[in-house]
Amino acid sequence: MSAYEYETHEFDVVVVGAGGAGLRATLGMAEQGLKTACVTKVFPTRSHTVAAQGGIAASLSNMGPDHWQWHMYDTVKGSDWLGDTDAMEYLAREAPKAVYELEHYGVPFSRTEDGKIYQRPFGGHTTEFGEGPPVQRTCAAADRTGHAILHTLYGQSLKNNAEFYIEYFAIDLIMSEDGQCQGVLAWKLDDGTMHVFNAKMVVLATGGYGRAFFSATSAHTCTGDGGGMVARQGMPLQDMEFVQFHPTGIYGSGCLITEGARGEGGYLTNSEGERFMERYAPTYKDLASRDVVSRCMTMEIREGRGVGAEGDHIHLHLNHLPPETLALRLPGISESARIFAGVDLTKEPIPVLPTVHYNMGGIPTNYWGEVLAPTKTNPDAIAPGLMAVGEAGCASVHGANRLGSNSLIDLVVFGRAAAIKAGEVVDPKTANMPTNKASVEQALDRFDGLRHASGGTSTADLRLEMQKTMQADAAVFRTDKTLSEGVEKMGAVAAKLDDLKVTDRTLVWNSDLMETLELTNLMPNALATIVGAEARKESRGAHAHEDYPDRDDKKWRKHSLAVVDGNKVKLSYRPVHLEPLSKHKDGGIDLKKIAPKARIY
Ligand SMILES: Cc1cc2nc3c(=O)[nH]c(=O)nc-3n(C[C@H](O)[C@H](O)[C@H](O)COP(=O)(O)OP(=O)(O)OC[C@H]3O[C@@H](n4cnc5c(N)ncnc54)[C@H](O)[C@@H]3O)c2cc1C
Repeated sequence: MSAYEYETHEFDVVVVGAGGAGLRATLGMAEQGLKTACVTKVFPTRSHTVAAQGGIAASLSNMGPDHWQWHMYDTVKGSDWLGDTDAMEYLAREAPKAVYELEHYGVPFSRTEDGKIYQRPFGGHTTEFGEGPPVQRTCAAADRTGHAILHTLYGQSLKNNAEFYIEYFAIDLIMSEDGQCQGVLAWKLDDGTMHVFNAKMVVLATGGYGRAFFSATSAHTCTGDGGGMVARQGMPLQDMEFVQFHPTGIYGSGCLITEGARGEGGYLTNSEGERFMERYAPTYKDLASRDVVSRCMTMEIREGRGVGAEGDHIHLHLNHLPPETLALRLPGISESARIFAGVDLTKEPIPVLPTVHYNMGGIPTNYWGEVLAPTKTNPDAIAPGLMAVGEAGCASVHGANRLGSNSLIDLVVFGRAAAIKAGEVVDPKTANMPTNKASVEQALDRFDGLRHASGGTSTADLRLEMQKTMQADAAVFRTDKTLSEGVEKMGAVAAKLDDLKVTDRTLVWNSDLMETLELTNLMPNALATIVGAEARKESRGAHAHEDYPDRDDKKWRKHSLAVVDGNKVKLSYRPVHLEPLSKHKDGGIDLKKIAPKARIY
């Protein structure tokens, strides 16, 4: 018996996470009369979704012709043919409905002259199955789309009597002896009490794990907690090797400098002051595609031409542009550069680094958000009582690479789908199964062990070692050599979890302990990423492998599954779903239109 007492709360559904995905799921569950709790470690409107500016994709045709099948084609191609066809069809088909629902809930979308939802163009979104001109498909609420969605969904969830448990940190899943998820154990951060949320369905909506890397555009709270919880139950994570990078995050903070900065004439230089992109991409130079620019920057740094005391970043120049242009076109960037890099960009260059922006991989699910626990005979077997949505999940619609504005739509389409499914499988009239006490004790023991950890390595030091290793060896530049070295190094880094030292033993606002719990979640995500990348001998989407520059559909059009056990990872694979939801003759997509071909833009 552990020394901790805990309070038990009974619900039909408990959603962990209050970003766009968690809130949309919470609202949908509550609307159907399911008794729903939403547990979140930060205040709902502080979730990383709040930072999404660009917008949310749906084929509304408000600005010109569009069709869900064109959106589906772009998503298939964007995924570099690794996405599941049924899930991608579901996303593209349901997107307009999900956006109109947001509108009716009260999201203040920007408007066209005649009062329709305004839509802007975004990279990779086209017409006529890639044959026509770019399309304006991305719905926006000015440059605050994520912010507007969160505030609206939070208000609507409250109105529908969802119960919020704010600043509660979910530690582990509670599982029955026969593998049914029964709830979560959570730690109330402001008073140190322990809480078991017993439920018929648990929905993980905990976001991405960008913070496994040194430089990430995501919030410090993006620590892959859902993936960590799932990994600790011996369940797999899917397609973790696919990590999207943005070329210009501010060195150190990772804060995003938009592509618009280079669009306005900004350029990159190395330690010799050379505009090196001219050498790599003579035509598009600094405006080559995101992954290409990121790779070239990394190559310069690896070859010793990085800037700064440690030669580990690159300069972005805007100081040659007229100050009026900067003030007019890039006011937000001027402010970010000042606050996060201490730079006056009219006078000096901004220190930048390719920065982790999005995790395509995550907890494997079907298009209803139900978590998959593949067996030898059934790659689509369902883990009872458990769902995952948003960046934490992998449905998989983004495959090897996500298109801009396709994440926000993923959050609401699959948050909504999870609620529809829960409405079918959760019966509010039946009693909950009693919580498996042994599982609760196991979670409390893990917590207590970390609370009293008295080894020789501080959490901050080990986290930094992990982040630097991942940034060096699992980032944009990937070769057999860097990856196998990285796998070895990460194995050693992860082993040091047994030597952690936590200095604060209290239970109230103990950020040392909370960050330690987060580190134990980041680590399995990081291990699965680098081991999956080392194994994949091809280039596909965000996984650009210098030694295998081509995509190999014969051998590698399959999802990776990584089971993490301590500092070891076991890989297996599951087939990509090639069947769409509806037949061509019944109005579905013509499969010939989405057959694999080279991904050229
Ligand atoms: C700077 C930036 C700009 C972006 N712009 C766009 C864009 O314009 N368009 C687009 O489509 N995508 C964009 N993206 C991507 C998109 O915003 C994210 O993928 C998406 O917001 C993730 O939402 P989520 O609901 O899955 O998770 P998040 O919004 O990250 O929320 C995670 C939630 O889980 C909770 N949580 C986590 N762990 C625990 C725990 N242990 N216990 C309790 N609660 C926990 C947190 O409190 C939080 O509420 C952008 C991303 C970034 C970083």
